Amino acid sequence: MRQFERYLVTSALPYANGPLHIGHLSGAYLSADIYVRFQRLVNKDIVFICGSDEHGAAITLRAAKEGIQPKAIIDKYHESFQKSFEGMGISFDHYDRTSSQLHHETSQEFFRNLFNKGEFIEKESEQYYDEEAKQFLADRYITGTCPKCANENAYGDQCEKCGSALSPTELIRPKSTLTGKEPTLRKTRHWYLPLDKYEEWLREWITEGTLYDKVLHYPEDWKNHVIGQCKSWLDGGLQPRSMTRDLDWGVDVPKEIPGSEGKKLYVWMDAPIGYISSTKAWAEKKGKDWEPYWKSEDSALIHFIGKDNIVFHCLIFPAILKAHGDYVLPVNVPANQFMNLEGDKISTSKNWAVWVHEYLEDFEGRQDELRYALIKNMPELKDSEFTWKSFQDANNNELVNNLANFVNRVIVLTNKYYEGIVPEIDEDEGFTGPESQSEVCYHDSELIRLFDDIHELCANIRKYDFRSALKNLMEISTKGNQILQFNEPWKLQKEQPETVKVIMNICLQYVTAISVICRPFMPFTSDKLRTLLNLDPIKEEGELDDLLFQLADGEHPLKAKHQIGKPFHLFSRIDDDVIEAQVAKLGNTGAKAAIKNPIKETINFDDFMKLDIRTAVITEAEKVPKADKLLKLALDLGFEQRTVVSGIAAHFTPEEVVGKSVSLLANLAPRKIRGVESQGMILMAEDDEGKLSFVSPEDGWPNGMIIK
Ligand SMILES: [Zn+2]
Repeated sequence: MRQFERYLVTSALPYANGPLHIGHLSGAYLSADIYVRFQRLVNKDIVFICGSDEHGAAITLRAAKEGIQPKAIIDKYHESFQKSFEGMGISFDHYDRTSSQLHHETSQEFFRNLFNKGEFIEKESEQYYDEEAKQFLADRYITGTCPKCANENAYGDQCEKCGSALSPTELIRPKSTLTGKEPTLRKTRHWYLPLDKYEEWLREWITEGTLYDKVLHYPEDWKNHVIGQCKSWLDGGLQPRSMTRDLDWGVDVPKEIPGSEGKKLYVWMDAPIGYISSTKAWAEKKGKDWEPYWKSEDSALIHFIGKDNIVFHCLIFPAILKAHGDYVLPVNVPANQFMNLEGDKISTSKNWAVWVHEYLEDFEGRQDELRYALIKNMPELKDSEFTWKSFQDANNNELVNNLANFVNRVIVLTNKYYEGIVPEIDEDEGFTGPESQSEVCYHDSELIRLFDDIHELCANIRKYDFRSALKNLMEISTKGNQILQFNEPWKLQKEQPETVKVIMNICLQYVTAISVICRPFMPFTSDKLRTLLNLDPIKEEGELDDLLFQLADGEHPLKAKHQIGKPFHLFSRIDDDVIEAQVAKLGNTGAKAAIKNPIKETINFDDFMKLDIRTAVITEAEKVPKADKLLKLALDLGFEQRTVVSGIAAHFTPEEVVGKSVSLLANLAPRKIRGVESQGMILMAEDDEGKLSFVSPEDGWPNGMIIK
């Protein structure tokens, strides 16, 4: 791993077109927050930058549909993002927005710079135009079938299903999202970035980490799936990409450039430059110099993103930075994959999401519980899944039973035995170690063990392996718990008070260490632990460095005679009804049914082949006397007639069902219902509220056909 003087960390700019959900958090924000808080704890010069992405066609499109100004949309979400991030403890040094004046100027400076250097190709091309709406259709104004994965709802600039970057003319069966009409082609002029020209150095930089023989990063530090995605684009051949659009919302192409009228910068050109303008605004606010962070070779630029943004951060933005010439390239782009929710893809339009602002209302003061559950399942290398049940389990089994239990016992016993004063100890007094009941341990050797464990945690964070680092944290808590469990101070206190002092003292050192090392993952819990210990809150100014030095020197992080605070509970159990209420809030009824009625046990093909299901039509229907729910039906199977008694009378009248095409389980053993022999069973679909629907072949389909 290369050493750097300073770090600039960015999280993907959230797009101001919908609220934040847990998929966003687990993708680009929690990961960056862990990394940044950690680097602050080890005294690194690090700046954490983000902001709202407020341009692009999706915003104007929505404004047009709702009959409001784009500004109303971006203001709403900019405020909502800020609240959600702050609520969840995402500790940006600066959060800006791309509608700011400074950002417009910074983006225009980039465009001007590249234009003056002749880096753009100016090209006339034919682009899709909506004759009815009288405008060119950029990016999200156009949908069609993805040529790579056949997704029917791919956008003009990207397919969200397979992540491919697209141009509108690549779409199969294009359609205007304004009018639904098939668009026509019209001539227009734009400025293109010739990505094909940069292919060679991009490949060298990404796959070997070098640029003209200079080492910029080690490829083994990068995630395999990031390098893999880049390689597949490079292998597919890069195309010149238009950096401007015919839109009326966005950053103007600089006025002095001929032909600039009506042209705006492509949103994926201006959005990443938002990292730079946001850094400038931060520097202005703090009275610092922004330039070394972006332009000095001993600075590390790190982009935290989700996998759908890899192409923009690993190919297009680096190409822009290098074409400009003054800027460093990222040393890493640790993209995460996607987090699914309860067995289905998170979807804003289907309301299949856990919204951060709603979570913050429903679970007030429990931000760390969500942070913990999301980090534990972070999609670092492959897609992962959030379920409310796993959230509950993580809270009840790990945070409550392990961490909170350990801390509570230590604080309660210290208050009980020593009136809350950290006991002085005889270092030669042995006790049972955390790992085995037979091993005798001493205070100083236990501090070294703690040092080693923390060291491992740090190494994992440096490798962007946050799941493992979180596991390390919980293992340290487990070890503390084991010291109590194996020694049972409550049994020794009468006979061996000196041994108990050593045990309680080492446990207090564990709790003190945890108050520092839990900080990147659970900052709110860190504050609570400091209150319990009666220590100053962690300011993230090198406290982890200090802790490691102390442990290495055999110094106690928590000094004898220090007065700790009074006990209170760090975490509390989350009950079933709370979890059920959250599941009930989810919007997608299909997926909800899957939670309520999980897929049955697997059967083999032979089991299935035993069922004989046929198409049939209902020819007669009548109520069964004295039975509210039953209809007696006559069915035509084409080659024979059947009588079936079906429990659908509460849902359908006899008149409604006559003539219906149905599917019949034809080889079900006949049985007598209310004196009538029922010769088979009609298949029905049942929804979440118990409504029924026939499972029907297409109209006019012949009767008696096999369904298989
Ligand atoms: Zn696709």
